[in-house]
Amino acid sequence: MRLPHIETTRVVIVGAGNVGSTTAFALMVQGIASEIVLIDIDKKKCAGEILDLTHGISFVKPVRIWAGDYTDCKHADVVFICAGAKQKPGQPRLGLLRPNTKIVSEIVKKIVRNITRYTKKAIILVATNPLDVMTYVALKVSGLPPYQVFGTGTNLDSSRFRWLLAEKFGLAATSMHAFLIGEHGDTSVPVFSHANVMGKNITELPEYNQAAAKEFYEKTKNAAYDIIQSKGATYYAIALSVAEIIRAILYDENHVLLVSSLLTGQYGLRNVCLSLPSVVGRTGIKKIIEIDLAPDELEKLKKSAKVIQEEIKKVKL
Ligand code: NAD
Repeated sequence: MRLPHIETTRVVIVGAGNVGSTTAFALMVQGIASEIVLIDIDKKKCAGEILDLTHGISFVKPVRIWAGDYTDCKHADVVFICAGAKQKPGQPRLGLLRPNTKIVSEIVKKIVRNITRYTKKAIILVATNPLDVMTYVALKVSGLPPYQVFGTGTNLDSSRFRWLLAEKFGLAATSMHAFLIGEHGDTSVPVFSHANVMGKNITELPEYNQAAAKEFYEKTKNAAYDIIQSKGATYYAIALSVAEIIRAILYDENHVLLVSSLLTGQYGLRNVCLSLPSVVGRTGIKKIIEIDLAPDELEKLKKSAKVIQEEIKKVKL
């Protein structure tokens, strides 16, 4: 129940696995939300995660955390979906299409029943893979407007890329402006034409080396495979990426982030979810920014869209 005189911010996380519980931790440590709810079909694991998290409450800003159910979505500001199967070592994200379409569809139906009856304005954010197809599934099943349902996209991939480039140039990752668009997966597109340091394109910097830059993209693309091979799952960086996106929503930041949403004619693409620079605030995606792309980048983006569109065709909703 909400106390009427106190302005609360509630994030409901569906999936209390690696990504869900680590995201709850990131939100809690950064003081981003005042209420965090975890939902999982594995009630025992969920209860354990809740206990572990709540034992740290005296070290952070006031926050309420509990194991909930879908009725908690009725007061949610953001519902974050990260339930479902994860990649096995060497498995591509697209290999998770079948099991996760069913899981995400069922979850979204339960969420929407509560959102539409009560707050109406909660944002649904998706991280379950294959991310772009699951975002499309969530959007279609929800019947909500495209600005209200979107995916974590290449925000994480872009952070990986920025860090690698920043290390090379001896800069802080926050001073390196570089990003990936397209699929969160094997056909993501590095936008070298807009990779810059305070407006100076990285290709004009004396330390720039084309082979190294290409290698950094390969490392970025393969990062999840490498991490899953060594420790079974990725979760710290995605949790921080999700925390950044949720903060942009709750604080109405108008932060330009690389999130995946339904394209409506950008670059001639439509009826597909992909990542493009997007203005994120309280109402969700306020604007998609269509930047000028180099011809090879545009071609790669179209190829990426085609791959996702082919996967979308396989989905039966
Ligand atoms: P995990 O196996 O640790 O957790 C998944 C959780 O989902 C489990 O606790 C499971 O009980 C729960 N679950 C399954 N079906 C459910 C249902 N119907 N309702 C409620 N809960 C259900 O997996 P993980 O490592 O947390 O990864 C979760 C998903 O996130 C995977 O699809 C993974 O590929 C994806 N992921 C995405 C990104 C990204 O950048 N978008 C990054 C990392 C992982």
